[in-house]
Amino acid sequence: MLSNVTAEQAFTWAERLTSQSDFNALTKEMDSILRALPNVQKVVVYEVYAGRQVRASDESSVVEKVVRRFPVDFATVEHHDEYADLLNSVAVVGDIQVVEYKSQRFLLLHVPNSIGPDRTILLETEVTEQLIELCRCLLVIYANQVQLHDNKERDLLTRLPNRQSFDMRLFQVCEYFHEHDLSDVVQDKGSWIAMLDIDHFKAVNDSFGHLYGDEVLLHFSQIMEKSFRYNDFLFRFGGEEFIVILNLVDMASARDVFERFREAIAQFKFPTVGRVTVSIGVTHIDSHALPASLLDHADKALYHAKGSGRNQVVFYEDMEQEAPVEDDTDVELF
Ligand code: GH3
Ligand code: MG
Ligand code: MG
Repeated sequence: MLSNVTAEQAFTWAERLTSQSDFNALTKEMDSILRALPNVQKVVVYEVYAGRQVRASDESSVVEKVVRRFPVDFATVEHHDEYADLLNSVAVVGDIQVVEYKSQRFLLLHVPNSIGPDRTILLETEVTEQLIELCRCLLVIYANQVQLHDNKERDLLTRLPNRQSFDMRLFQVCEYFHEHDLSDVVQDKGSWIAMLDIDHFKAVNDSFGHLYGDEVLLHFSQIMEKSFRYNDFLFRFGGEEFIVILNLVDMASARDVFERFREAIAQFKFPTVGRVTVSIGVTHIDSHALPASLLDHADKALYHAKGSGRNQVVFYEDMEQEAPVEDDTDVELF
């Protein structure tokens, strides 16, 4: 068993897997270790979401499982994934599985029960007992590290990525748009950043207690997950504030999507608490924007939404065309 792996090699792998700063870096490292193993032709990592809608507008697309190839390519229109059917059809048994698909054998490595989505690594390879044993050892370290990173990068209540993950993701999206100029903000399919803040949430806590407040946050995050596409990025920013980075849509579609979400919240009957509304401030991620100024614009739009009655969606780009926002509103955001 593992007779051909030297202690030095094993420690090198362990060091590589345990020295990464976040989930993305860890998973890239795991991918590169597996790729370098003899006879491994292909390695594909997936995040597996159970019971999530692919597209909110299309009821027929409700699926049992959504598999999302790692890393998420937010700038590409969904393409058919060659192994999606395999992953959708397979019943997960244990941590390592040999499956046959289109008369080829694959090795699947599973990381279930994290606070994030499940992860599955698919190996296109000649399957030997020795490889399975080796993968089992690597998978134990990888799965432990996934737990650690998920705990750091995700919010424990809603399981959404937290503010720290948001900072990294926004930086990455901004970098992309620095390199890929969009010619028309309104017409082109770009990315949008939205700040979502639950209205009068303090009153929810005051009237029903923190526990029911937390329950509202949980339902709210679940409605977010159902309402946006799987290649959009959702975060809990802090407290009763959430962020959405909406990808690959023009301005009219962005309006529709956020309006529909606002309405979904307004219509939802939260257990015990009843009706809750949300205000949303949105801005376009343009090619020259710095992350800090984008947040500032979304925040200004949110402030405007709060000041003009709450339960509404305001685009910063619309505000720019209007008269300057009054500063003497009675809104306190922080
Ligand atoms: P507005 O419509 O202007 O946003 O009013 P608001 O009451 O929602 O805003 P404010 O910022 O005054 O209050 C936010 C409240 O959110 C205060 C705090 O008690 C509550 N809160 C923040 N984090 C949590 C949390 O994790 N759980 C619960 N239950 N409440 C939280
Ligand atoms: Mg609020
Ligand atoms: Mg707030």
